[in-house]
This record gives sequence, structure tokens and C-alpha cells, in this order.
Amino acid sequence: MNRKTFLKTSGALLTSTLFNKVSAKESFESNKGSKVSVPNELNFPIMDLHVHRSDKLTINDIVAKSKELNMTIGVMENIAPWGIKTDVQLKEYINTIKPYPVYIGLQPMSPGWSKNFSPDLIAQADYIAMDPQIVENGNSYGETIKLWEYNAYIDDSEVFMNRNMQHYMDILTGEDPLDILACPLFLPCCLQREYDTLWTKKRLQQIIDAAKARNIAIEINDIVHVPHEKFIRMAKHAGLKFTFGSDSRNHYVGRLDYCKRIAKQCELTEKDFFVPAKK
Ligand SMILES: [Zn+2]
Repeated sequence: MNRKTFLKTSGALLTSTLFNKVSAKESFESNKGSKVSVPNELNFPIMDLHVHRSDKLTINDIVAKSKELNMTIGVMENIAPWGIKTDVQLKEYINTIKPYPVYIGLQPMSPGWSKNFSPDLIAQADYIAMDPQIVENGNSYGETIKLWEYNAYIDDSEVFMNRNMQHYMDILTGEDPLDILACPLFLPCCLQREYDTLWTKKRLQQIIDAAKARNIAIEINDIVHVPHEKFIRMAKHAGLKFTFGSDSRNHYVGRLDYCKRIAKQCELTEKDFFVPAKK
């Protein structure tokens, strides 16, 4: 999808989803016994593997939502300056989540993270996802750009893309354990107009090849609508697996409208999805 239409489409999506719910129900009522196609619904069970606890969303809220939606959920915690920083904290997180019927995920933010933790503890997580959204600024102070911040400023888009690609490669080809590339291809607001030009086929293929070499799955992220159809089709062609993530910290848990729509559009089937092993 063209990034310029993101906001417009989100609104349209919301409207169309509400509409579809009504029309699907109505058509079901009037077509009992005949084949009914329900727009945006997939004919296999789906999971939301990207959910964060917050002060608006406790683990009990997440479990309740999982039951309500009849959907398996994976909880993630960041390994970052604002999240888990030590073995003690990692152990506490794992032991807190373990009693609940959800997956235990980790979302480290910087390549090289795993050398600061005990491998035995890391191995207790059900899966590890990394997103490439903190990129070096390129200046001599070692500053970083947080791509999700609305005022993230990029001076030269091509110079940035070279650094950005290096960051993807550091994540995908590094020595840290990794199961899922989260939130792939997101670019900051100031580059949205150049989205399709900057994500050249060559760059997309380079990411896919690196992910394929280690069988790293690709997250389809609901909140920022990435990746787009072209990338998903290329990744599918290469035999990569996918996951869905609402990237939620509130009642949006399990909201996977973009994920379902684009998966349908790209004809993804149950076997195209990564299912973590529960440890
Ligand atoms: Zn996250």
C-alpha cells in the first residue's frame, strides 16, 4: 500500500470492517445452508503475537481477551533501556507470565543484546522478535533515531536508507537468537512520500534473503500497516513464514484488520504462518 494513503485507508478500513460485520451477519441469516463468504475473515485460526502489557492492559486483561476472541496471544516485553535490562528482570518477567495461557515473547531493541543475558533464561522464552526501528543517526555522537516518533527527522533519505539497510542486516545476520522480524519496512513520517521509491526491489530481496538464510518469520503489523503487498508476495515466494501482530498496549489486543485483509489479498494460508513451540 502506498504510505500516503495510510490514514485515509485506516478510516476507510474501520468503516468497511463495521459494514462487513453487519453485511456478513445479514447474509448468513438469509443464506443458511449455502456457502457464505465473510470478507476479511480467514478460514484458519489466527494468533496475535505482539501484545504488550501496560497500565491499561494487565496480563489478566490479555487472558480475558484471548478467551473472548478465542485467539492465542503472545505477550512481548522489550529488552531495552526502558524494559528488561538484567537477568534478574528477565527471570522475573518469565516467571510472571509462565502461569498464564499465553506465549512468552521477547522484543529486544539492539543487535548484540543476547550477550548480556544467560542463554538458559533466553531459551525459556517461546519466541524472540526484533524490530528495526531504532537506527543510528550517523553522527559522531552515536545518537539514534526512533523511527516511530512523529518528528523523526531524516536529512538525506538515500544516506539514511543505506544505514537503515545495514541495521536490518545487523539484526538478521547477527548472532542473537531471532524468530520474527517485527514491524518490517516501517519508515518515519517524513519519508512516507518516498516509500515506494526507497524500498527498491533490490532492498526488499536483500531483507528476504537474509531472513530466509535463518528462517526468520515476517510479522505483519496491524497498527502501522506493514509490510505491503509487494513484500509479502516476494517473501511468500521465497518460502518465508508470517505472523500477525496488533502491536497493542490497550484494548486493541487481537485487532488484526490490516493483517487479515492483506493476508487474504496475498492468498496466505495456514501453512504460511509461523507457530512458536510452547516451552
Ligand atoms: Zn512491540
